Amino acid sequence: MTTSHTSIPDPSAGDPAAETGQPPQVVIVGGGLAGLAAAAAASEAGLAVQLIEGRRQCGGRAASFEDVSEGTLVDACQHVAMGCCTNFLDLCRLAGIEQWLRRDRTLWFIGPDGRRAACTPASWLPAPLHLAPLLLGMRHFSLREKLALAVGMLRLASWKPAVAEAVEPTAAAWLAARQPERVIELFWQPVIESALGESIDLVGLSAVKKVAVDGFLAHPTAADLWVPTRPLGDLFGDRLVGWLISRGVSIMTGRQVAAVERDSRGRTVGVRVGDELIAADAVILAVPWRAAARLVPGLLPPVDNAFAGSPITAVHLWFDQPIIDLPHAVLVGRVSQWVFQEEQNAHAGMSANDDQSHHCQVVISASRGLCGGDRKLLLETVVGELKGIFPAAREARLLRSRIVTDPTAVLSVRPGVDRVRPPAESAVPNLFLAGDWTATGWPSTMEGAVRSGRLAAAAAARSVGRTAAPLTADLSKNRLIRLLARS
Ligand SMILES: Cc1cc2nc3c(=O)[nH]c(=O)nc-3n(C[C@H](O)[C@H](O)[C@H](O)COP(=O)(O)OP(=O)(O)OC[C@H]3O[C@@H](n4cnc5c(N)ncnc54)[C@H](O)[C@@H]3O)c2cc1C
Repeated sequence: MTTSHTSIPDPSAGDPAAETGQPPQVVIVGGGLAGLAAAAAASEAGLAVQLIEGRRQCGGRAASFEDVSEGTLVDACQHVAMGCCTNFLDLCRLAGIEQWLRRDRTLWFIGPDGRRAACTPASWLPAPLHLAPLLLGMRHFSLREKLALAVGMLRLASWKPAVAEAVEPTAAAWLAARQPERVIELFWQPVIESALGESIDLVGLSAVKKVAVDGFLAHPTAADLWVPTRPLGDLFGDRLVGWLISRGVSIMTGRQVAAVERDSRGRTVGVRVGDELIAADAVILAVPWRAAARLVPGLLPPVDNAFAGSPITAVHLWFDQPIIDLPHAVLVGRVSQWVFQEEQNAHAGMSANDDQSHHCQVVISASRGLCGGDRKLLLETVVGELKGIFPAAREARLLRSRIVTDPTAVLSVRPGVDRVRPPAESAVPNLFLAGDWTATGWPSTMEGAVRSGRLAAAAAARSVGRTAAPLTADLSKNRLIRLLARS
């Protein structure tokens, strides 16, 4: 759903435009999805926007690298969104890049015995019955296990912390007492770890409830996968940025903000880039938590104690022929978790040579301690698993490979972390925080980042007497799901 984009002055707040005739200036530090979303929302609210990104290209963690062998862009790690990611999808729609997101309604699971399960929620059944065909499609589970999974999903949706409970349980502790081991290993573990980017031993149950309710139960389209069919660097670094520039946003890349400058009253007056002070009526810090803590010491709780990152690894493989005959696959009960094959037209017009290699990547979330840190063993394991599943992989020759691990890919959503995630408004009246680690109610994802940017832009707009559009609505939940999730 697209929201209104009119800018309504708020008479209770000061509007610098009234004094100078110029629109209020907001400076956004960081050009990841949070900063880009904030820029879009702030400019729609009538603010003059200057975005400053430290790297050569915007996109932050949702970025690509140049594969020198072929001169093509390759995503550091495949990103996917779900149907429930309404703000991310809305931003893509507004920027005209939604056409390069492929919608997969069917989730392809590959069981431990190699059997394929095509799991598609029914669009014609009301929630939560829409999940029945998805569950029945899981051929690697017995009927008993499918029933146990359905009951577990509903119990999870209606879970709420006991009043006396100081800390919420971890997913592993809660599931171990209520779900069969095989269902945990072959459903909950891969689903939770890929949705939250963290091990079930560490994630708090409230984050898992969010995945169950918003990602599965809420709506027949909630679990749809939205898979970029062009490199992220092209989608966000070029096209989204190009769209923002066409709307008057000024974007400076390759420049690190060294400090946030404040006046004697503590208000922010701008940011320092090299010797230059870039003046601002409001500043949005859309940088990771450590960078935010460095730029404004004392503003956040001690970040190294409060926040931990969780690693995600992508194993990039180039074969001499396509090896996967599915749009994607969830590999359960293995080291490899997801496999994606690059669309053959994804790089049309971008390739520097005619090398006919076929790129696929295996994504492994919560990848700390993977294969004891032995990269050669990891590569052998992953390739061996693909050969065991896809007959074409047995015939194919592996031309080259690359393993990319981001040690702090996402915020680890451990029990209690939501109590320390800060809101957009900070203790400084005209300084605002954005980023997937801030308090959005969402895990650390592209959706969380876009929401945080929009929330920060709304708060910044308010501080200068403007009004920004509200968040895009969630997918509608029927009465039954609302009751269940509230109970
Ligand atoms: C390997 C991996 C896989 C992932 N998979 C998925 C997925 O499948 N689905 C999903 O939804 N999410 C996924 N995520 C998470 C998603 O990428 C992030 O949640 C999102 O991109 C975070 O955006 P952000 O803007 O909050 O932060 P960032 O992307 O980290 O952006 C912050 C920006 O600030 C810049 N910056 C920092 N300091 C300064 C400074 N002093 N001056 C100027 N600029 C500065 C940085 O260069 C960076 O560009 C994945 C992340 C990783 C790493």
